[in-house]
Amino acid sequence: MAAKYRYGEMTWPEIKAAAQAQSVAVVPVATIEDHGLHLPVDTDLRLCGEVTERAVSQAGDRSVLVPPITHGYSPHHMDFPGPISIGADTFIKYGVDVCRSLAHHGFSRILIVNGHGSNTPFVDIIARLTTVETSALTAAVNYWAAPGVREVAESLRESERVGGMNHACEFETSAYLAIAPQLVDMTKARHELSYRPSKNYWTDLIAGDGPLVMMENWSALSQTGVMGDPTKASAEKGEKLLAAAAAGIVELIDEMRAREPAKRQDHH
Ligand SMILES: [Zn+2]
Repeated sequence: MAAKYRYGEMTWPEIKAAAQAQSVAVVPVATIEDHGLHLPVDTDLRLCGEVTERAVSQAGDRSVLVPPITHGYSPHHMDFPGPISIGADTFIKYGVDVCRSLAHHGFSRILIVNGHGSNTPFVDIIARLTTVETSALTAAVNYWAAPGVREVAESLRESERVGGMNHACEFETSAYLAIAPQLVDMTKARHELSYRPSKNYWTDLIAGDGPLVMMENWSALSQTGVMGDPTKASAEKGEKLLAAAAAGIVELIDEMRAREPAKRQDHH
């Protein structure tokens, strides 16, 4: 039998052994929210799930894949039918409780892999709190920001820089096409940039955000829920993006394993 890497499929002695072997507990985090007229509401969950599944299966016994935190922070999307949004405080507490449980079972390294942009400040806090409150080193990463992904995305990019890769865009649509093309209706894909532009302050997954941090209600920014250009998407691009993201997460798994916890010094 091939070695198990999915936490949920393990017995408790197997989980004990994985923790003792310094396996990195990989925790996917996403949300359920509208992704235009052409993509399902599970896009962030599906993409993040695929990237982490590939990464952890490639990493062998160096990591385990914890079942995902499905719901996230999407209050600005509620004008569209579909989003299931969890309040900021609930979300943080839930995430810390998940990580605290993993630390309790002996996992000394936890990597939160996030698939939804608006979860970013909260997964940062979840990682910080877990690291200072437990003995587990805990870090968070957005999968599209894993090492190497930006370079691959920019080399494939046909949409505007900045703005073409943001939400239900060239990037996300390509990735979904590579996973489950039967669920993507490209006849309904619309090219839509924010119609309230301000110089180059478009948000963009790949090019990065500007210096200002602000999020208006999504319905004030987009008619269809799209931000970017899904008409430039292809399954071929998606496969390369997913492969790059998985390779980047494997790199981070190894980085986490290599990092020894530093000794605290209480100077009181
Ligand atoms: Zn998304």
